[in-house]
Amino acid sequence: MDKSVSSEKKLFVADPHGFCNGVKRALKIVEDLLEQGAVDIYIYNDIVHNSFVVNGLKERGVKFVTTLDEPAPGSHIVWSAHGVSPELEALARSRALQITDATCPLVSRVHELAKQYLQAGARVIFAGHAGHPETDGVLGCGNIDLVGREEDCEKLPELSDRKKTVMLTQTTWCQEDVEKIIRALQKRFPDIECISNICYATSERQQAVRTLIGQHKVEYLVVIGSAHSSNARRLCEVAQSCGSRGILINDPGEIRQLDLTEVARIGITAGASTPEILLEKAIKILNDMGFENA
Ligand code: SF4
Repeated sequence: MDKSVSSEKKLFVADPHGFCNGVKRALKIVEDLLEQGAVDIYIYNDIVHNSFVVNGLKERGVKFVTTLDEPAPGSHIVWSAHGVSPELEALARSRALQITDATCPLVSRVHELAKQYLQAGARVIFAGHAGHPETDGVLGCGNIDLVGREEDCEKLPELSDRKKTVMLTQTTWCQEDVEKIIRALQKRFPDIECISNICYATSERQQAVRTLIGQHKVEYLVVIGSAHSSNARRLCEVAQSCGSRGILINDPGEIRQLDLTEVARIGITAGASTPEILLEKAIKILNDMGFENA
């Protein structure tokens, strides 16, 4: 390696990065089931949104399902960290499945809020991504409107019979996007109560990216995480909104394919569901490519 080149190329690691407490908790719950010798373990959706984690559990005999058709009565069904709707919970009970709930308590809190406001006669609007398991679980709590973009706010119907209007959010959104939605909703519903449910782990990881770019002048941010991980994708978007290039990579080996010849200051982070070992591999590859840890 040419030392004169490597000394000019710096690598900044975001702090914090990687597993949040909700992900650690969900994986520990599955680990405990395996250690207890439980058989016929099914997980509804990905336990967390990371393909390495999911494939590792598959190799140990855990099955992943997106319906409850396959598990026989008496099987274990584990709810992922993203939570499920009350309807699915009832269906699992009616099929005599043994339920283990690995829903992150911060997601459960959003469910509770949604139910409380609906019971109090409020209209509830949820700002989240359509099709994401967390969104499906919250929408299943009752008659809730979904908005994913500012334009959706204009299309919401008037509901004059409601006592008040409340907005809740997906836990893994970014603050900038939520603020845009809030402004659009306030135009439609001036008295709306807006509650951001972005969790501490999401906020802290996004803030760490802003710090890398703002204070350390990082030009290019590598995010290690799976393409279907909402929080990992948001980290890329935060980087781009701060003026840096951001790229989401699932397998650290893909870094070798990147053209980084013009990059002097690179940053790296990992989504809340990305194992630390993948970040360590990525750092090693970047070191080999001439980037010294700052
Ligand atoms: S990202 Fe936040 S809400 Fe999701 S599992 Fe982690 S702590 Fe819980």
